Amino acid sequence: MLDTRELGRRPGSQREVEQTVPAPADLGIEVLAVPEGSPVVLDLRLEAVMEGVLVTGTATAGLAGECVRCLDAVTDEVEARFQELYVYDDDGDSRQGDDQDDDVSRLERDLLDLEPVLRDAVVLALPFQPLCEEDCPGLCTECGARLADDPDHGHEDPVDPRWAGLAALRQDPGDAPA
Ligand SMILES: [Zn+2]
Ligand SMILES: [Zn+2]
Repeated sequence: MLDTRELGRRPGSQREVEQTVPAPADLGIEVLAVPEGSPVVLDLRLEAVMEGVLVTGTATAGLAGECVRCLDAVTDEVEARFQELYVYDDDGDSRQGDDQDDDVSRLERDLLDLEPVLRDAVVLALPFQPLCEEDCPGLCTECGARLADDPDHGHEDPVDPRWAGLAALRQDPGDAPA
């Protein structure tokens, strides 16, 4: 929550805000997120306009996650930019249910809730497929070893798929013809 009282309501008045806040839970996606409680640096410009307060800013935070190919730990940094208009909510009582203007951000008295906007901006700024390195070879399909650790990794006797079929037949005495 950010207090906008110091800004005042005269259209055109501006205020720069730099603030570091602890990351809320689930800031990110399943495989890559800002660890809860870690610092999120907010660099904001608040600007009073006719209808409310226009917030423009960036959020910078560290990321932790895992490589989608080899599941190795991945750390990264995200810089998310956002802009959002928070509408004055002076006639709060006349709001007709939650179905009206559902996607409009509103000031609550003089406070604005940055969290939903921050959340959307961070998710948009994330790579959807975090990788430990761009050309991560992933895991061995035979044994699950991490191939980046062992590039020459191989198995001595890969079973020829044609013989694998025969072997399966041989090992199933129940169906063997008399
Ligand atoms: Zn990897
Ligand atoms: Zn292997």
